Amino acid sequence: MFPFLAMGLATVLVGVAVTQLAMFATTVYLHRFLAHGGIELRPEVRAASRIVIWVTTAMKPRQWAQVHRYHHAAEDTTDDPHSPRNFGGGRPGAWHVFWRNGPLYTHSTRDPRLAEKYRDLVADRWDHWFFDRGELGVVVGVSVACATMAVLGHWIVGGWLGVVVGVAAGLLASGLHASYYLLAGGAINGFGHASTVARRVGGYAMNMPVIAWFTVGEGWHRNHHGAENSPRFGWGRQVDLGWIAIRGLCHLRLARLTTRGEAGLRRLQGLYAGHALTTPEHLAKS
Ligand SMILES: [Zn+2]
Ligand SMILES: [Zn+2]
Repeated sequence: MFPFLAMGLATVLVGVAVTQLAMFATTVYLHRFLAHGGIELRPEVRAASRIVIWVTTAMKPRQWAQVHRYHHAAEDTTDDPHSPRNFGGGRPGAWHVFWRNGPLYTHSTRDPRLAEKYRDLVADRWDHWFFDRGELGVVVGVSVACATMAVLGHWIVGGWLGVVVGVAAGLLASGLHASYYLLAGGAINGFGHASTVARRVGGYAMNMPVIAWFTVGEGWHRNHHGAENSPRFGWGRQVDLGWIAIRGLCHLRLARLTTRGEAGLRRLQGLYAGHALTTPEHLAKS
């Protein structure tokens, strides 16, 4: 019994670890670098991030950045690609966006106005050869997961049975990762915009301390809408694992803050100094 329990535990650990890796690439590369330009990344970090995004999410980075910039530009209006306000607002709207995060994203990637609006986001030859082929990325990602788990299964369970159990575990871990990643995005886009009143700073966006832990800092969503170019989302004691990763990359000279990022950081600092992000909801003016 022990070998099968060990394989079950390994499946959950691998699924969660892959999701964390995908979320680091999402928040650092797609969000804080590509969409908002708060940081500059060395080419090797950009290349590694593109490979991670390709094999773990099958998304096209420039499309993600287009949809996301549009979300900020059209924040909680009828044009916003995934605002809960367009589905009843508050908690009911948030639940709607939470469950339909994938379809809402896919729908907005098909809007030709987005590519037209953000002309700096263009495909290069690596996109044509590899990264625009999302289905190939999924095949590579799932194959690597199954092969790794098959080796582990052969070692822990033994024989061909171990290999078969390992391949099944690889498929399960991939499914776990896909669900976790999609729902984490849904939580940010849904509950991250679940305020029932628009605040002067941050609008309908919400800070979510618990979700911030599970989404490497993305949960500090009201901070982010208050100072969108800041590469730091959590302020003071608010834990922001994405910012810790960026600080580590800066320390290794693999990343640096841009002028825009530094201005964003000063804005976030100023908002907290002026208590603009700590106004209770019932005191907010709509
Ligand atoms: Zn938002
Ligand atoms: Zn953003």
